Amino acid sequence: MTGILIIGAGHGGTQLAASLRKHGYGSAITLVSEDPELPYHKPPLSKSFMQSSDQKIQPLRVEAFFESNDIELRMGEIATGIDRVAKRVTFKNGKSLAYDQLVLATGTEARKLNCRGHDLDGVFSIRTAANSRAIRERLDHTTDVVIIGGGFIGLESAAMLVKQGHCVTVLELAPNVLGRAVSTEIAEAVTCELQQTGVDIRCSLGVDHIAGEDGCVTHVVTTSGEHIAAQLVIVGIGAIPCTSLAETAQLEIENGICVDGNLKTSSSDIYAIGDCVSFPQVQLGQRIRLESIQNATEQADHLAIVLTGGATNQYARLPWFWSDIGVMKLQIAGLRNGEIEKVVVHRDDRLAAVYHYSANKLVSVETINGAGEHMLARKMITEGFSPSKDALALTNLASIKESFKQWKTRISTLSASL
Ligand code: NAP
Repeated sequence: MTGILIIGAGHGGTQLAASLRKHGYGSAITLVSEDPELPYHKPPLSKSFMQSSDQKIQPLRVEAFFESNDIELRMGEIATGIDRVAKRVTFKNGKSLAYDQLVLATGTEARKLNCRGHDLDGVFSIRTAANSRAIRERLDHTTDVVIIGGGFIGLESAAMLVKQGHCVTVLELAPNVLGRAVSTEIAEAVTCELQQTGVDIRCSLGVDHIAGEDGCVTHVVTTSGEHIAAQLVIVGIGAIPCTSLAETAQLEIENGICVDGNLKTSSSDIYAIGDCVSFPQVQLGQRIRLESIQNATEQADHLAIVLTGGATNQYARLPWFWSDIGVMKLQIAGLRNGEIEKVVVHRDDRLAAVYHYSANKLVSVETINGAGEHMLARKMITEGFSPSKDALALTNLASIKESFKQWKTRISTLSASL
């Protein structure tokens, strides 16, 4: 029994192993990861886990789960090549493993700065528990932190570090933080909130180089020539898909490993899921790559159904995202691109949500500290209901819910009469 070999034990790979057993897969499952630690939750790495050494890593599944489900875990092993003909994966340690089906869940790696000083002691990316541990070990001896990149990693860690009393500066190249992820209204609200807590956010400013003494970072020099003191630098400038293993099998690659609607690569018996894939996204009608735990987890569940022979339509789950930035829970339902009309909703004198419409159809909703509204938005977008834009700006959440309920009643009455 050769079974299914999964390379990558992040959120996607680990969920796939679990979902395969849930859907009745009876042959061998092997889950391989370069990271030597039992698979763990990634979101705390830039928040609570980085805060203090009292914080423990949160395993995705306890060790007994893997044993009782007969999932062979091979941690700390690096896959280096795929032989499609022999159906074997080779490893850096000289071993090789055979597969019936191979799944690549290799995720992304942190984009690296290439300026002078990028390799000084005290400069970190955050991808693994080891990175986050190394950062927290220095916090007691750190006053000034410079964060390069105002994305999710940068802002989540800025909020946590300033609360701990550090002096934090964020440098972002683009005119706004979270530039690609959110609307300008949400970006401004997040910026304002962080500034009020004491984070110094500088947009449209690049890094010329990082300077140090005796091999340790001392300050960051901006492209405008300013010297900003730093005993710790966190680099959060984006992620790039890990495709080198896929390349050894000459799989089709374009902004990630290309898969079809059922997550199959250009080679039979090789599939891929999660942050490393570009897939045909149903709501946008185009091929995209998503960096999202929800997408990786739901693609894993979908693939488990495919691999256990369940009849299925192509993967079509609505994407959603979240980020906890200090006291703000930012949530995004759906995706947007092209011509979009926005409705900005304020409640209780604060920005509560931004609704995005494409050709009068609701396609995405961003909320701040509005978990109920986010859940409602996911349901409305999934079911195809678009609240009227005029009403949205005037009404409260309860009346949006009520109009959605009435619309659903009308739809079910209509379909019953057909
Ligand atoms: P990110 O969210 O893509 O943000 C990176 C930011 O850095 C972007 O605003 C980018 O601007 C900017 N940037 C790029 N090059 C720069 C430079 N040389 N100097 C200054 N700014 C620069 O990426 P990330 O924060 O590094 O996160 C990495 C990965 O972790 C992503 O997959 C992210 O989704 C994931 N993550 C997710 C969460 C969450 O969902 N809550 C939390 C933590 C991490 P441009 O866009 O203009 O390039």
